[in-house]
Amino acid sequence: MSFLSVFKKKKMTASENRAPSYLSGAGKGRSGLADTRAAIDELSKVVKDTPEAVEIYLALGNLYRSQGEIERAAQIRNSLIVRPGLDPAIKSRALYELGRDFSRGGFLDRAVNAFEKAREIVGDSPEILTELAELAAGSREFEKAAIFYSKLNQPLQEAHYLARLAEDYSSAGEDSLAQRTLKKALRISSHSVESWLLVLTRLKQEGSLEKFKKEFQTALSQVPKHLIFVLVEGILAESLVFGDTPVTTKDQGNNRNYPYYQVMVEEISQSDPDVIMHYYGARLLQLCGKQDEAEVWLEKTLMLNQNFWLARLELFNLAQKQQELTPSFKNQLDFFVNVARKVQRFTCSSCGLKRDRIFFNCPRCRSWHSISFRKELNQ
Ligand SMILES: [Zn+2]
Repeated sequence: MSFLSVFKKKKMTASENRAPSYLSGAGKGRSGLADTRAAIDELSKVVKDTPEAVEIYLALGNLYRSQGEIERAAQIRNSLIVRPGLDPAIKSRALYELGRDFSRGGFLDRAVNAFEKAREIVGDSPEILTELAELAAGSREFEKAAIFYSKLNQPLQEAHYLARLAEDYSSAGEDSLAQRTLKKALRISSHSVESWLLVLTRLKQEGSLEKFKKEFQTALSQVPKHLIFVLVEGILAESLVFGDTPVTTKDQGNNRNYPYYQVMVEEISQSDPDVIMHYYGARLLQLCGKQDEAEVWLEKTLMLNQNFWLARLELFNLAQKQQELTPSFKNQLDFFVNVARKVQRFTCSSCGLKRDRIFFNCPRCRSWHSISFRKELNQ
């Protein structure tokens, strides 16, 4: 027996003098369901005679969904879907909304099923494909997600999921398959910063400095300028791109990394760096122990943007070492410097979400590649 048929077969009597229940989730009682059933029955009668009322009916379902009352929303769609002689266009819309109800309620298999049925009627509509792509991505079926985004003609998203697929192949020890998949991702979108990051991280781990230099140079010319810092930040973190990227890793100070950082600084300096890349250049130099050179890059950062707080913080920290400070004063300063370093450095340019780790798809508003670096503290 299906999830929906449970509701269809329940015979409930309408209790006329009771206010409608707006209780959501598990708290709703039998009477609430009965009221809803009665309201839906009434609406159904109206809809039967006035086809235009279908819109209102579907909107009512959306309202329930927005309140988290998934079962009631689904019940409404289903009472439309089972109606004999229903216009196929309306049936497919009801199936689409049913899919969204299930998706919202976490019934993912049922959601896919409803969307596929809607697709059988109307074909590959962008709305249905988008829902299916997101469901596939959410259940880590990255290959499938990439195929849906390919049908949607969204290369950035397609490349993203190919990169994630490559990461999975790589974790499973399927290195040549991983590399082929990454090549494909970059063929589809050479702007895919996540794909470049995986390519470069692998070369660094393998110890191929010359290849790393060449690919880093190409990446700098291909990745959109405002996202280059994501590339450097990701290489510094040196972990799986889509995993739980640590803010800093113990490996950062390892002198095995110095030649790579040096090469990165050289390439960055030749790529007409902006204010953020001046800051990252300084950070790389600092990690290699080249404090004096780092200071020059930090000064340049401040010349380009005098409110760039992190550059100011690092310069302040460097200057502190040249002062004669009492232990107590130094202690206070260290405290503030450490607190300031923990400020979340990244923000979503679409919704303002702040994070201390890089992201490719905003966890809050779902925008793609909307990450930006907080140059100023009030950003
Ligand atoms: Zn956002």
